[in-house]
Amino acid sequence: MKRTVLLLSVSFLSSFPLLSHAEKTKTLPIIEQQKQVAGFYQHQVGDLQITALLDGTNFMSPKLFKDISQQQVQQILKKYYADQDKGVQTSINAFLVNTGKSLILVDSGAASCFGAHLGSVLTNLKASGYQPEQVDTILLTHLHPDHVCGISNNGVANFPNATVYVSDDEAKYWLDPKQVAKLPKEKQANYLGTVEKIKQAIAPYQAKQRFKTYKLGDDIQGFKVINTAGHTPGHFSYELKTKSESIVFIGDIVHSHTVQFDRPETAIEYDIDPKKAVETRLKQFANFAKNGQTIAAPHLPFPGIGHIYSADGKSYQWIPIHFKD
Ligand SMILES: [Zn+2]
Repeated sequence: MKRTVLLLSVSFLSSFPLLSHAEKTKTLPIIEQQKQVAGFYQHQVGDLQITALLDGTNFMSPKLFKDISQQQVQQILKKYYADQDKGVQTSINAFLVNTGKSLILVDSGAASCFGAHLGSVLTNLKASGYQPEQVDTILLTHLHPDHVCGISNNGVANFPNATVYVSDDEAKYWLDPKQVAKLPKEKQANYLGTVEKIKQAIAPYQAKQRFKTYKLGDDIQGFKVINTAGHTPGHFSYELKTKSESIVFIGDIVHSHTVQFDRPETAIEYDIDPKKAVETRLKQFANFAKNGQTIAAPHLPFPGIGHIYSADGKSYQWIPIHFKD
């Protein structure tokens, strides 16, 4: 035993010869941060394989939160060690679901609609071992550009064999030419800008009759549709049940794992109907917490899969799944 220790210590010392003064002060060059490796994460729910796909990350300005004082926002951000000026880092995620019979993409990321820092869903889908041609169904929770733009690129479908589904109410709100006149003047330009992006994204699917709408009560490839309107007028979530478990793809009923969990009654600038958006969040959060529901969310920190906990029924806590290799 003693002999082993001695041998070890000799070899240890010989691999670290005494350093000269100049060498001691030598510092390592700083390497510019490279692209992170993890852009997809696979999680099993019963017999379903869920692959979370990262589109990219963004900062959400603290000023976007409504009906809450900036002082309260800052207090919450401090608790979460978020940047006080830039706000909290948020994520844009999409989800690929392999049911064994069908490959379904839920939301699709922003592509180039919001700048070059986003738009990695397609690359990450390929990196995860799938091909875009294998996707047969795309479920959109709503038609905001960070959910719809990723379905195509410059008028060409990224998923040539997929049929795209969105709720009837959502399609009407964005695609009915009469809608713009119903909006307040100051919101019209922004609305029309969004409509342009939506139309471009869905055009190649419409040309092949692969853009379809549904109503409450419909079932798409085994997914139950849940009306979660408020953030947008036709916003829907999707629930998929397996024999023993279920997962709900919640969409944008929440945008922040900090402020909107501590204070779920806080709306965000992007909500088209803030009051209804808050009602929807309160109702769904209460359900999810009570039922221990597994959820997948496009704007919670990647991979955006986890559970919701509440100690008092008023404030909530995001419990992300833990990295598993
Ligand atoms: Zn969104």
